[in-house]
Amino acid sequence: MAFTVSLTGKTAVITGSNSGIGLGIAWELARAGANIVLNSFTDRKEDHALADQISEETGVKARYIQADMSKGDECRGLIEKAGVCDILVNNAGIQHVAPIDQFPVNKWDAIIAINMNSAFHTTAVALPLMRAAGWGRVINIASAHGLTASPYKAAYIAAKHGVVGMTKTVALETAQEPITANAICPGYVLTPLVEAQIPDTMKEYDMSREDVVKNVMLTRQPSKEFATVEQMGGTTVYLCSDAAAQITGTTISVDGGWTAL
Ligand code: NAD
Repeated sequence: MAFTVSLTGKTAVITGSNSGIGLGIAWELARAGANIVLNSFTDRKEDHALADQISEETGVKARYIQADMSKGDECRGLIEKAGVCDILVNNAGIQHVAPIDQFPVNKWDAIIAINMNSAFHTTAVALPLMRAAGWGRVINIASAHGLTASPYKAAYIAAKHGVVGMTKTVALETAQEPITANAICPGYVLTPLVEAQIPDTMKEYDMSREDVVKNVMLTRQPSKEFATVEQMGGTTVYLCSDAAAQITGTTISVDGGWTAL
Protein backbone atom coordinates (compact mmCIF):
# COMPACT_ATOMS: atom_id res chain seq x y z
CA MET A 1 0.00 0.00 0.00
CA ALA A 2 1.36 3.41 -0.95
CA PHE A 3 1.02 6.09 1.68
CA THR A 4 -0.15 9.54 0.67
CA VAL A 5 -0.93 12.56 2.81
CA SER A 6 -4.15 14.31 1.98
CA LEU A 7 -5.82 16.14 4.80
CA THR A 8 -8.64 17.48 2.63
CA GLY A 9 -11.83 17.61 4.67
CA LYS A 10 -10.00 17.56 8.02
CA THR A 11 -9.94 20.57 10.33
CA ALA A 12 -6.89 21.49 12.38
CA VAL A 13 -6.95 23.74 15.45
CA ILE A 14 -3.51 25.12 16.29
CA THR A 15 -3.17 27.02 19.56
CA GLY A 16 -0.81 30.01 19.63
CA SER A 17 -0.56 30.18 15.87
CA ASN A 18 -0.32 33.84 14.92
CA SER A 19 3.49 33.59 14.78
CA GLY A 20 6.49 31.26 14.85
CA ILE A 21 6.13 27.50 14.98
CA GLY A 22 2.33 27.48 15.26
CA LEU A 23 1.95 29.58 12.12
CA GLY A 24 4.51 27.43 10.27
CA ILE A 25 2.55 24.31 11.22
CA ALA A 26 -0.70 25.94 10.09
CA TRP A 27 0.78 26.69 6.66
CA GLU A 28 2.04 23.11 6.15
CA LEU A 29 -1.27 21.59 7.29
CA ALA A 30 -3.12 23.94 4.91
CA ARG A 31 -0.77 22.97 2.05
CA ALA A 32 -1.70 19.33 2.82
CA GLY A 33 -5.38 20.28 2.47
CA ALA A 34 -6.58 20.74 6.07
CA ASN A 35 -8.95 23.54 7.03
CA ILE A 36 -7.31 25.74 9.62
CA VAL A 37 -8.29 27.41 12.88
CA LEU A 38 -5.63 29.87 14.00
CA ASN A 39 -5.55 31.15 17.58
CA SER A 40 -3.91 33.54 19.97
CA PHE A 41 -5.00 35.79 22.84
CA THR A 42 -5.05 38.97 20.70
CA ASP A 43 -7.88 40.05 18.40
CA ARG A 44 -6.19 42.27 15.83
CA LYS A 45 -6.87 42.80 12.14
CA GLU A 46 -3.48 41.19 11.39
CA ASP A 47 -4.53 38.00 13.18
CA HIS A 48 -7.63 37.60 10.99
CA ALA A 49 -5.60 38.65 7.93
CA LEU A 50 -3.26 35.67 8.48
CA ALA A 51 -6.23 33.30 8.19
CA ASP A 52 -7.40 35.10 5.02
CA GLN A 53 -3.91 34.79 3.51
CA ILE A 54 -3.73 31.04 4.23
CA SER A 55 -7.17 30.58 2.71
CA GLU A 56 -6.36 32.63 -0.42
CA GLU A 57 -3.01 30.93 -1.08
CA THR A 58 -3.98 27.32 -0.37
CA GLY A 59 -7.72 27.21 -1.08
CA VAL A 60 -8.64 25.72 2.32
CA LYS A 61 -11.05 27.30 4.79
CA ALA A 62 -9.18 29.21 7.49
CA ARG A 63 -10.32 31.36 10.36
CA TYR A 64 -8.90 32.96 13.46
CA ILE A 65 -10.47 32.48 16.90
CA GLN A 66 -9.28 34.65 19.78
CA ALA A 67 -8.89 32.73 23.08
CA ASP A 68 -6.47 33.10 25.97
CA MET A 69 -4.75 29.76 26.60
CA SER A 70 -3.90 30.81 30.17
CA LYS A 71 -7.61 30.42 31.02
CA GLY A 72 -9.17 26.95 31.15
CA ASP A 73 -12.65 28.10 30.08
CA GLU A 74 -11.23 29.93 27.04
CA CYS A 75 -9.20 26.85 26.03
CA ARG A 76 -12.39 24.81 26.13
CA GLY A 77 -14.29 27.63 24.38
CA LEU A 78 -11.77 27.61 21.50
CA ILE A 79 -12.56 23.99 20.64
CA GLU A 80 -16.30 24.52 21.19
CA LYS A 81 -16.28 27.53 18.83
CA ALA A 82 -14.26 25.59 16.24
CA GLY A 83 -17.06 22.98 16.40
CA VAL A 84 -14.89 20.39 14.67
CA CYS A 85 -11.32 19.39 15.54
CA ASP A 86 -9.78 16.45 13.71
CA ILE A 87 -6.22 17.62 14.34
CA LEU A 88 -5.37 19.39 17.59
CA VAL A 89 -1.95 21.02 17.79
CA ASN A 90 -1.20 22.29 21.29
CA ASN A 91 1.52 24.81 20.54
CA ALA A 92 0.91 27.98 22.61
CA GLY A 93 3.85 28.63 24.89
CA ILE A 94 5.83 31.26 26.77
CA GLN A 95 9.16 31.27 28.58
CA HIS A 96 10.71 32.96 31.60
CA VAL A 97 14.27 32.45 32.81
CA ALA A 98 15.25 32.83 36.50
CA PRO A 99 16.84 30.76 39.30
CA ILE A 100 14.18 28.76 41.13
CA ASP A 101 14.54 30.68 44.42
CA GLN A 102 13.88 33.92 42.53
CA PHE A 103 11.30 32.59 40.07
CA PRO A 104 8.28 34.95 40.10
CA VAL A 105 5.15 33.05 41.20
CA ASN A 106 3.01 34.76 38.55
CA LYS A 107 5.44 33.63 35.80
CA TRP A 108 5.42 30.06 37.16
CA ASP A 109 1.61 30.05 37.15
CA ALA A 110 1.39 31.54 33.63
CA ILE A 111 3.89 29.07 32.13
CA ILE A 112 2.21 26.05 33.73
CA ALA A 113 -1.21 27.32 32.58
CA ILE A 114 -0.29 28.18 28.97
CA ASN A 115 2.37 25.53 28.25
CA MET A 116 0.71 22.57 30.03
CA ASN A 117 -2.80 23.07 31.44
CA SER A 118 -4.14 24.42 28.13
CA ALA A 119 -3.35 21.08 26.45
CA PHE A 120 -5.45 19.28 29.09
CA HIS A 121 -8.45 21.57 28.50
CA THR A 122 -8.32 21.53 24.69
CA THR A 123 -7.74 17.77 24.53
CA ALA A 124 -10.64 17.09 26.92
CA VAL A 125 -13.05 18.89 24.58
CA ALA A 126 -11.46 17.80 21.29
CA LEU A 127 -11.40 14.02 21.95
CA PRO A 128 -15.22 13.58 21.85
CA LEU A 129 -15.25 15.49 18.52
CA MET A 130 -12.51 13.20 17.15
CA ARG A 131 -14.42 10.12 18.35
CA ALA A 132 -17.60 11.38 16.66
CA ALA A 133 -15.63 11.96 13.44
CA GLY A 134 -13.94 8.53 13.68
CA TRP A 135 -10.39 9.90 13.30
CA GLY A 136 -8.10 12.21 15.21
CA ARG A 137 -4.59 13.44 15.85
CA VAL A 138 -3.37 15.14 19.03
CA ILE A 139 0.04 16.73 18.47
CA ASN A 140 1.66 18.50 21.38
CA ILE A 141 4.57 20.83 20.75
CA ALA A 142 6.83 20.04 23.69
CA SER A 143 10.58 20.72 23.47
CA ALA A 144 14.02 19.19 23.90
CA HIS A 145 13.30 20.62 27.35
CA GLY A 146 10.48 18.07 27.66
CA LEU A 147 13.20 15.40 27.75
CA THR A 148 16.22 17.17 29.26
CA ALA A 149 16.79 20.12 31.58
CA SER A 150 18.74 23.37 31.71
CA PRO A 151 19.21 25.69 34.67
CA TYR A 152 16.87 28.67 35.25
CA LYS A 153 13.94 27.27 33.26
CA ALA A 154 12.12 25.37 36.04
CA ALA A 155 8.58 26.24 35.02
CA TYR A 156 9.13 25.65 31.30
CA ILE A 157 10.86 22.31 31.90
CA ALA A 158 8.22 21.17 34.39
CA ALA A 159 5.46 22.11 31.93
CA LYS A 160 7.11 20.48 28.91
CA HIS A 161 7.89 17.24 30.84
CA GLY A 162 4.24 17.35 31.97
CA VAL A 163 3.05 17.65 28.38
CA VAL A 164 5.16 14.65 27.36
CA GLY A 165 3.62 12.62 30.21
CA MET A 166 0.08 13.72 29.33
CA THR A 167 0.70 12.78 25.68
CA LYS A 168 1.46 9.18 26.74
CA THR A 169 -1.74 8.99 28.80
CA VAL A 170 -3.91 10.34 25.97
CA ALA A 171 -2.30 7.76 23.66
CA LEU A 172 -3.15 4.91 26.06
CA GLU A 173 -6.73 6.13 26.50
CA THR A 174 -7.21 6.20 22.69
CA ALA A 175 -4.98 3.24 21.79
CA GLN A 176 -7.79 1.13 20.31
CA GLU A 177 -9.35 4.00 18.40
CA PRO A 178 -8.24 5.67 15.12
CA ILE A 179 -6.74 8.49 17.16
CA THR A 180 -3.07 9.07 17.97
CA ALA A 181 -1.33 11.40 20.43
CA ASN A 182 2.32 12.37 20.10
CA ALA A 183 4.67 15.14 21.12
CA ILE A 184 7.15 16.91 18.86
CA CYS A 185 10.27 17.99 20.74
CA PRO A 186 12.00 20.81 18.86
CA GLY A 187 15.50 21.99 19.63
CA TYR A 188 16.29 25.62 18.86
CA VAL A 189 13.99 26.80 16.05
CA LEU A 190 14.60 29.93 14.04
CA THR A 191 11.43 31.96 14.72
CA PRO A 192 11.10 35.75 14.36
CA LEU A 193 11.56 36.00 18.14
CA VAL A 194 14.89 34.14 18.02
CA GLU A 195 16.03 36.00 14.88
CA ALA A 196 15.39 39.31 16.68
CA GLN A 197 17.80 38.35 19.50
CA ILE A 198 20.77 37.85 17.15
CA PRO A 199 21.77 41.52 16.54
CA ASP A 200 21.77 42.38 20.29
CA THR A 201 23.77 39.26 21.14
CA MET A 202 26.28 40.13 18.38
CA LYS A 203 26.77 43.54 20.01
CA GLU A 204 26.89 42.16 23.57
CA TYR A 205 29.63 39.60 22.79
CA ASP A 206 31.24 41.54 19.90
CA MET A 207 30.79 38.45 17.73
CA SER A 208 29.82 37.75 14.13
CA ARG A 209 26.33 36.44 13.39
CA GLU A 210 27.85 33.02 12.65
CA ASP A 211 29.66 32.91 16.02
CA VAL A 212 26.56 34.00 17.92
CA VAL A 213 24.48 31.31 16.26
CA LYS A 214 27.04 28.49 16.61
CA ASN A 215 28.74 29.31 19.90
CA VAL A 216 26.06 31.11 21.91
CA MET A 217 22.65 29.98 20.72
CA LEU A 218 23.37 26.50 19.39
CA THR A 219 25.90 25.32 22.00
CA ARG A 220 23.69 22.31 22.78
CA GLN A 221 22.54 21.63 19.22
CA PRO A 222 25.22 19.39 17.63
CA SER A 223 24.10 20.12 14.05
CA LYS A 224 24.92 23.80 14.69
CA GLU A 225 21.87 24.63 12.60
CA PHE A 226 18.50 25.91 13.71
CA ALA A 227 15.49 23.75 12.99
CA THR A 228 12.87 25.58 10.91
CA VAL A 229 9.16 26.19 11.34
CA GLU A 230 8.62 24.42 8.01
CA GLN A 231 10.30 21.30 9.45
CA MET A 232 7.92 21.46 12.44
CA GLY A 233 5.05 21.73 9.96
CA GLY A 234 6.36 18.80 7.91
CA THR A 235 6.72 16.63 11.02
CA THR A 236 3.16 17.52 12.02
CA VAL A 237 1.84 16.60 8.56
CA TYR A 238 3.73 13.29 8.77
CA LEU A 239 2.10 12.51 12.14
CA CYS A 240 -1.27 13.11 10.44
CA SER A 241 -0.47 10.67 7.61
CA ASP A 242 -1.55 7.04 7.37
CA ALA A 243 2.13 6.06 7.60
CA ALA A 244 2.07 7.36 11.19
CA ALA A 245 -1.17 5.65 12.22
CA GLN A 246 0.69 3.27 14.60
CA ILE A 247 2.91 6.00 16.03
CA THR A 248 1.29 6.98 19.29
CA GLY A 249 2.33 7.90 22.81
CA THR A 250 5.82 8.90 21.82
CA THR A 251 8.06 11.88 21.20
CA ILE A 252 9.71 12.92 17.94
CA SER A 253 12.82 15.02 18.45
CA VAL A 254 13.59 17.59 15.77
CA ASP A 255 16.63 18.99 17.51
CA GLY A 256 19.78 18.52 15.41
CA GLY A 257 21.03 15.84 17.82
CA TRP A 258 20.53 17.75 21.10
CA THR A 259 19.00 14.80 22.98
CA ALA A 260 21.66 12.38 21.68
CA LEU A 261 24.32 14.14 23.71
P1 NAD B 1 6.29 32.38 19.54
O1 NAD B 1 6.40 33.34 20.66
O2 NAD B 1 6.58 32.83 18.15
O3 NAD B 1 4.88 31.67 19.53
C1 NAD B 1 4.13 31.44 20.69
C2 NAD B 1 2.68 31.52 20.28
O4 NAD B 1 1.89 31.34 21.46
C3 NAD B 1 2.33 32.89 19.70
O5 NAD B 1 1.44 32.72 18.62
C4 NAD B 1 1.65 33.58 20.86
O6 NAD B 1 0.72 34.55 20.44
C5 NAD B 1 0.96 32.38 21.51
N1 NAD B 1 0.56 32.65 22.90
C6 NAD B 1 1.31 33.09 23.92
N2 NAD B 1 0.54 33.24 25.02
C7 NAD B 1 -0.71 32.85 24.66
C8 NAD B 1 -1.94 32.79 25.35
N3 NAD B 1 -2.07 33.17 26.63
N4 NAD B 1 -3.03 32.35 24.66
C9 NAD B 1 -2.94 32.00 23.36
N5 NAD B 1 -1.79 32.05 22.66
C10 NAD B 1 -0.70 32.47 23.31
O7 NAD B 1 7.26 31.16 19.94
P2 NAD B 1 7.59 29.79 19.19
O8 NAD B 1 9.06 29.66 19.27
O9 NAD B 1 6.91 29.69 17.88
O10 NAD B 1 6.96 28.73 20.22
C11 NAD B 1 5.87 27.89 19.91
C12 NAD B 1 5.93 26.64 20.76
O11 NAD B 1 7.12 25.91 20.44
C13 NAD B 1 5.99 26.91 22.27
O12 NAD B 1 5.21 25.96 22.97
C14 NAD B 1 7.46 26.73 22.58
O13 NAD B 1 7.67 26.36 23.91
C15 NAD B 1 7.83 25.62 21.62
N6 NAD B 1 9.27 25.53 21.33
C16 NAD B 1 9.94 26.56 20.71
C17 NAD B 1 11.30 26.42 20.45
C18 NAD B 1 12.10 27.49 19.73
O14 NAD B 1 13.33 27.38 19.65
N7 NAD B 1 11.51 28.52 19.15
C19 NAD B 1 11.97 25.25 20.84
C20 NAD B 1 11.26 24.24 21.49
C21 NAD B 1 9.90 24.39 21.71
